[in-house]
Amino acid sequence: MKDLIAQVRNCRLCESHLPYYPKPIIQAHPTARLLIIGQAPGQKAHASGIPWNDASGNRLRNWLGLDTATFYDSSRVAIMPMGFCYPGKGTSGDLPPRPECAPQWHAKLLQQLPQLQLTLLIGQYAQHYYLPDAKSLTENVRMTDLFLPNFWPLPHPSPRNQFWLRKNEWFEQDIIPSLKATIHRIIHEKRA
Ligand code: SF4
Repeated sequence: MKDLIAQVRNCRLCESHLPYYPKPIIQAHPTARLLIIGQAPGQKAHASGIPWNDASGNRLRNWLGLDTATFYDSSRVAIMPMGFCYPGKGTSGDLPPRPECAPQWHAKLLQQLPQLQLTLLIGQYAQHYYLPDAKSLTENVRMTDLFLPNFWPLPHPSPRNQFWLRKNEWFEQDIIPSLKATIHRIIHEKRA
């Protein structure tokens, strides 16, 4: 895994499309049980090198019932976005993750994460890539049972997504308690 992560960190595949120098952001270890696949790092994560170190990350940790130390413990939680580098700004928010990235790296990384029990698919890009039967994001999130035990689709926890969260109150009322219980079991159950 160390060699593979070093290869990812040296990747320059889509450098000509990026606003800054490539700075792939990834957290992975062969013993991780939970995988978080989001979109792409924002500008703040690009600067700090730390994923989900913002208001979105705070809400995500709250949804998962994980404290910061556990969330950033690579032996338990892997973090692998659809695009590992900050893609730049578009007219309304950040640009989509670079399309070259997941096909280039994800399958190789997944081969080295043999203990994964659950993958969280955050946002439409991860859901379209991993769920052949993906519908709208709202339907995917509502129909979690269709994708378990391997995948759990989630909306983006960004403050920009407040409208969706207000419109779909069932998500935080009904889905989040069940998600928290599942994550607690996966993270804390004794290893064989
Ligand atoms: S976004 Fe992905 S493919 Fe592009 S340079 Fe970064 S690691 Fe490589």
